[in-house]
Amino acid sequence: MYNLKKIIVDIYAWLANVSGKTNIGRCCSNRLVLFTFHRCLPGRLREEYPYPGLVVTPDELSWLLDVVRPYFQIGTISSMIDKFYSQESSSPLLGISFDDGQWDNYKYAQPVLEHYDCRATFYIPSSPVETNRLIWHDLVGFGCLFFSGASRKQQEGWLSQLPSGLLGYAYSPSFLVNGLKSISNDERSDLVEWLVQNVPHESWPQWARLMTWKEVRQLSQFGHEIGSHTCSHAILPQLPKKLLAYEIEHSKDQIEAEIGVPVTSLCYPNGDFNADCVRIARDSGYTNAVSTIWGHNKANDSLFTLRRMDIDQRQHRSFLGHLSVDRTKLRLTNQYPGLRR
Ligand SMILES: [Zn+2]
Repeated sequence: MYNLKKIIVDIYAWLANVSGKTNIGRCCSNRLVLFTFHRCLPGRLREEYPYPGLVVTPDELSWLLDVVRPYFQIGTISSMIDKFYSQESSSPLLGISFDDGQWDNYKYAQPVLEHYDCRATFYIPSSPVETNRLIWHDLVGFGCLFFSGASRKQQEGWLSQLPSGLLGYAYSPSFLVNGLKSISNDERSDLVEWLVQNVPHESWPQWARLMTWKEVRQLSQFGHEIGSHTCSHAILPQLPKKLLAYEIEHSKDQIEAEIGVPVTSLCYPNGDFNADCVRIARDSGYTNAVSTIWGHNKANDSLFTLRRMDIDQRQHRSFLGHLSVDRTKLRLTNQYPGLRR
C-alpha cells in the first residue's frame, strides 16, 4: 500500500511538472519561501543518528541547491524578508535556515553553501552552546539507543523514569520525543538530568555536538546570519511568562555578545508559539520570527509567525529511491498531497 502511494505521488509529480502545474517561477512569484534544515551529515553518520528524517547529506544539499538555484534568489532569512517587503524583487525569494546550531552545519553544510555562494541563517540555542551539551531531544534520542542495547537492570531503570503513557516508546526515539513534548518543562528537565547521570558519555558521539562560539562567530564572519533559537530550546508556550521572556531576551543578548552583530531573527523551538511569544519577541528587538507551519509567506502575513518548509530528503525521493526534481517541485510549489494548509 505504501509503495503504491509512492508510485501515485511520482506519477502525479511528473504530470504536474510536464503540464506546468508546478512551474516554480509562476507558483512562487510574489511569495517568500523559507527552507528549514537541521543536521547535515555524511550517510554513514546519518545511520547512527536517532532522527534520520532531520538529516541531509552534503550531496543531497548540493542536489537541492542545484535544483532551486535557477529559479530563486537565495539568502539569509532576514535578507530575503527585507527584499520581499521592500518589493525590491518580484522574482521568487528563498531564505535558507538551519535550526539547532549543530557542529555538522559548520563542518558539512557551510562548505556546500560556500560552493554555491549562498548565505543562510543558523538558529542557535545559546545555553547548549555555552555549556557544550547536546539539546534535550538529542540526549533523549541517543539515550534511547543506548538503553535499547543495555542490560535488563539498566532498562528497568530507564523505564522507571518514563511517564506510564510513554513506556511503549522507550526505545523509539522519534515517538518518545514527540510524547515528551507534551509533558511539563520541569518533568522533561528532570528526565534529561537523569539521562546525563545514567548514560555513559561515549553514547553521545563527538560528531553530534553543537558548534562552539568560535565556530558560530566564523559563520557570522563568512556572511551568514546568526539567529536565536532561545536559550534552552524549551517549548515556549509551556513556560511561565518570566522564564519565557528570559529565553527570548537573554539568548539574543548572549549571542550578540559573542558575535558582535545584532540578532534580529528568532526561531521558536519545535515551532511552538503563542501570543505572548510574539509580543515578547517584538518587544525584545527582533524584527522577525519563524515557525514550522508549512507553506509560503505572502505580503500580508505576520513577520513573527513566518511559515517554513522543512526538508526531509525522503520526501524528495521517487519510488525507486532517486532524488526527484518532479517531487521537489511539487513540494516547493506547496502542492504535495496532504501538505497544503
Ligand atoms: Zn530546534
